[in-house]
This record gives sequence, C-alpha cells and structure tokens, in this order.
Amino acid sequence: MTIRPIIAVPDPRLKQVSEPVEAVTDALRLLMDDMVETMHDAKGIGLAAIQIGVNKRVIVMDLSPSDPGDDGESSDRYDLSELKDETIRYFVNPEIVWTSEEMNNYQEGCLSVPGFFDDVERPKACKVTYLDYQGQPQELDCDGLLATCIQHEMDHLNGVVFLDHLSRLKRDMIVKKLRKQSKDTNVVEPL
Ligand SMILES: [Zn+2]
Repeated sequence: MTIRPIIAVPDPRLKQVSEPVEAVTDALRLLMDDMVETMHDAKGIGLAAIQIGVNKRVIVMDLSPSDPGDDGESSDRYDLSELKDETIRYFVNPEIVWTSEEMNNYQEGCLSVPGFFDDVERPKACKVTYLDYQGQPQELDCDGLLATCIQHEMDHLNGVVFLDHLSRLKRDMIVKKLRKQSKDTNVVEPL
C-alpha cells in the first residue's frame, strides 16, 4: 500500500464530477487500499478518490477514532488495532437514495481544506446504496456522524467541498488563505 499526496483547495480537480466505476477489480481494490492508508496517515475519517486526484466514484471511511459506537460505550474498552479492518468502510458508486427531513449541524473539516472547520447543516440521516470491496451491492442506513461523513464524501464525488455550503464571504476568505498557503508550500518544498 502507498500513501498518496492529498490535493487541497483551490486545486481545480476538486471541482470535477467523478466518473462511475465500471467494475470492482483488483486494480480498484489496490486504489482503495492506498486510499485507506492515505486517510489513516492523514488522521482523517473519510476520503474520496478525487482527493488523491483519481476521478472515480470511490469513498473510504473509518470512523473508529471518533465513533464510540451506537450504544455510547467508550471505545477504550476495545482494542482498536484488532477492530481496525472491520471498521473500514468502502463505497463504490455510492448513491444517496433517501434523506431525513430532520437536519443536523456538525462542525466539519476536510483533508483537502487543511486547518479550517465550520458548521454545515445536512440531513440528520440518510440511506445509501453502493458496491462494497468485493463488488457486492449493499444498502446502509446512516445516522449521526456516519450520515454527515457519507454526505460530505458524496459531495466530493460531485465536485463540491464543504466550503461551498458556507457563505460566499467566508468561503472566499478561506480559499484566499489556502491559496497563499499552497504558494508558501511551493516555495519551501520545490519537489
Ligand atoms: Zn472532504
């Protein structure tokens, strides 16, 4: 597995609409493995393929660092290293087929918007259909952080980042700062 560079706003690729995957092949599983490694390395809980510059409708997710479980029990009780493989979720060609009328506010961040967090309002629950790591069709009812995360990642597949949900003033300010950051980075890291 390989850690791939994560692209950040204002990289224009983040505005692309990603293409559907034709089949879940070994090559695609290799991409998903790389995505998981990249996400874990960056300490993120979700990653869309376009964030490493691959414009395919693929998402990986691992809420284990932040999700104590539905029953509210502390994650301290579990050995997360053993649980790890079971907490990773893979979504190929995901579709949101239902959203709740009830909304939820969550302070979101994004690996492609490093250092910025803001409240975004989204449906509190949703239902998603997708193909899993083996290419099998699946359906999942999502609530809470899982629902927020899947909607955030779905946005990436449609060329949207969470900044697009903020006011224009706020968004322009953050993009300006990110643009400056990326220029500064280019100066100190010529590679
Ligand atoms: Zn994101």
